[in-house]
Amino acid sequence: MSSTIASEAPATQEAPEALALSPEELAEQLPALRPGRKMPRYRGAQIFHALHQEYAGDWEAVQTLPAEARSRLGEHFRLNWPRIAQRFASVDGTIRYLLELADGATPAGAVPAAPATVEAVYLPDEVFDRAGASVRRRTTFCISTQVGCAVNCQFCLTATLGLMRSLTAGEIVGQVLTLLREHELRPGKGLDRVNLVLMGMGEPFLNYENVVRALRLLTLQEGAGLAPRRITVSTSGIVDKIRRWGQEGVETFPRGRPRLAISLNAPTDAQRQAIMPLNRGQGGLAALLAAVRTLPQGPREYVTFEYVLLAGVNDSLDDAARLLALVAEVRCKINLIAWNMGPSLPFRTPAPEQVLAFQSRLVAGGVATYIRRPRGQDIYAACGQLFNAGTRLTPPARARGGAGPRSPTPPLR
Ligand code: SAH
Ligand code: SF4
Repeated sequence: MSSTIASEAPATQEAPEALALSPEELAEQLPALRPGRKMPRYRGAQIFHALHQEYAGDWEAVQTLPAEARSRLGEHFRLNWPRIAQRFASVDGTIRYLLELADGATPAGAVPAAPATVEAVYLPDEVFDRAGASVRRRTTFCISTQVGCAVNCQFCLTATLGLMRSLTAGEIVGQVLTLLREHELRPGKGLDRVNLVLMGMGEPFLNYENVVRALRLLTLQEGAGLAPRRITVSTSGIVDKIRRWGQEGVETFPRGRPRLAISLNAPTDAQRQAIMPLNRGQGGLAALLAAVRTLPQGPREYVTFEYVLLAGVNDSLDDAARLLALVAEVRCKINLIAWNMGPSLPFRTPAPEQVLAFQSRLVAGGVATYIRRPRGQDIYAACGQLFNAGTRLTPPARARGGAGPRSPTPPLR
């Protein structure tokens, strides 16, 4: 995206990211734009509106501002829109985007060799009535929170990247706004039917502050105004952050807290430990379930558990019975995801009959259980398949020894 103004007067790396600021925060920064002259506070709201509702690609596009102020915005703010580097379209309508970020992925201070890339997925969904007529269209965006991931789940392709860096709040916001602009979704034009899932690359709760800030901005009515109940954050189980999430109040999320999904994936500590090495460091399933029980629950609210079914590892009917016992105390629903294959990962996808039998066992035990339809598998866009395929055709050569840890697990906060 070109920014003539910004390129004439480039902002320093220390300048705040415009996409990470609220209308009030933008307004606070504005007096510096016209030294000696007062800048009205509503100008912050105008900039926010231009970025979050009109998807202004550069400062020149913020036409509500006087030309003089516009010409100086680039000195005071960084406007870092992700650039769509590649699109991969699936036969089922899913599109996987490879997004290039403005900054690289090397640790602070070092000069990055190349811009970092993350993936975001567009999942269109048609909803039909009983007669088979299409009644409405719904859109889901699956976005990333980190470049790679440190959690090292053995069944997940993103894990093979390791963690390169966390995304800034502006980069998380930028992914969503870029997809909204790309699909021409605007207020009054389909924006109210957009669902957002934080299930792309990365562990959202290991980038907690930036994720929370980004979600708060995305739910503001002055901006994209996404409904909190249409947003789902998925975590592999960072226990202290689950507790903190439950305590976030109206000052953080004025329109309500988005939904949370917990990636459970195994019914016993031994099984979970083998496929999710973070389990032990987080205090095991007992600590995870105790944290989940601290989440405030409205009368009709359910905790969502996700469960990736791996043939012969966690998909037996005994596993289903153990899972029922584990979640007995929690008002919950379970989403089953039959494992999406990844090249060289040592797992198998269960047969469809096994997935159905597992579901039936849970339903018979009284727990609402759904099977997640795989989407975009042909373009590596399904859950756990995001690892910049296309730019990187084979996963990095890291030793993969069965279901045991394949590399030392990095310490997790
Ligand atoms: N890091 C977060 C969110 C991203 S992963 C988390 O782990 O929850 C989103 C979901 O995809 C998780 O429930 C994860 O368990 C699941 N997943 C990962 N790899 C998968 C694979 N290969 N097949 C199916 N689901 C997978
Ligand atoms: Fe990270 Fe989630 Fe993949 Fe685990 S499943 S490695 S937490 S992205």
